[in-house]
Amino acid sequence: MASIALENVTKRFDDVTAVDGIDLSVTDGEFLVFVGPSGCGKSTTLRLIAGLETATSGSVAIGDTDVTDRDPSERNVSMVFQNYALFPHMTARENITFGMTASGSYANGEIGRLVDDAAATLDIEGLLDRKPAELSGGEKQRVAMGRSLVRDPEVFLMDEPLSNLDAKLRVEMRRELTALHEEFGTTTVYVTHDQTEAMTLGDRVAVMNNGRIEQIDAPQRLYDYPATQFVAEFIGSPAMNLLPVEIEERGDHPHAVTDAASISLRDGPELDALGQSRATLGIRPKYLSVVGDGDSVDGDTVDLEVDLVESMGDTLVVHGRAGTDHLRALSYDAHLPVEEGDRVSVTYETDRIHLFDRD
Ligand code: ADP
Repeated sequence: MASIALENVTKRFDDVTAVDGIDLSVTDGEFLVFVGPSGCGKSTTLRLIAGLETATSGSVAIGDTDVTDRDPSERNVSMVFQNYALFPHMTARENITFGMTASGSYANGEIGRLVDDAAATLDIEGLLDRKPAELSGGEKQRVAMGRSLVRDPEVFLMDEPLSNLDAKLRVEMRRELTALHEEFGTTTVYVTHDQTEAMTLGDRVAVMNNGRIEQIDAPQRLYDYPATQFVAEFIGSPAMNLLPVEIEERGDHPHAVTDAASISLRDGPELDALGQSRATLGIRPKYLSVVGDGDSVDGDTVDLEVDLVESMGDTLVVHGRAGTDHLRALSYDAHLPVEEGDRVSVTYETDRIHLFDRD
């Protein structure tokens, strides 16, 4: 096992800056997930750690060793890819052991034992003599994991390893990955565009945007304390409402004023940190409650012209317009009598408001 450290790492492809001055420190045994939209630089970062790309500037260390100029084979990392990267003409066993026999670093019989152990861990003992064409997607992914596992690397690098699997299998494999990490405790860096995968797998999650890390934190902290508007919008479903507001003192209280509402704010560090009176107010849909008939209202309300109601079975997402803003409110009452065209009142849970700088 080993820690990983990236210092001011940049990777340019001609005029594209794929990775833009990243600093990163992964602790020994940690499961770190990179998440972000397509093209934000996740895979390139992973490939820089693997040695499959060379940094334009900056340094990469694994454990105490600076590996910036080392080949992938000299880094003691093992990578699992989305497309499994199995040789079609070889059996599962041959795929798993590929290159190990030739390396000469294993004693007689040791490779067979290692494969049997990995196969037992991954429940693929019965598949070792099959070729990839005779395996399902999930089985191929297990064989690809087996190839990583037998090498007992210091670091596992995984690039969207579950993307080609169906939804049910993805959930199952997520659980297995967590169990594998608990068993072996190998430092793991995992890339995905799927926030559920990120939130459920990561000890910490790094949210990337435009080649930079926007925030790196424990999953729950990312959700509760998003550092930027980008993170606020990217993490959580349905996505956080974000509205442009002006901050004004009204009475003895600061208020966030939209063209449809004036929402009183609590004094606090977020408000203090704002550099200007223009801001973006963020509130998660679950903290906007639709006021039902006879509900007593405590706090500010906003009128919403409902333009869509989505039933999720156990919850409802009520979409509507408040002036020029579009808002989403989440109701835990799936039978709430609201439909398109209605006008409803929603209340803000003031404690749950986030404020972000607006350019
Ligand atoms: P992600 O994994 O987040 O989808 P990537 O790291 O694959 O993003 O890509 C980041 C940016 O770098 C993208 O704009 C992509 O087009 C570019 N890029 C990645 N690899 C190459 C390459 N080999 N040559 C040129 N551009 C590349």
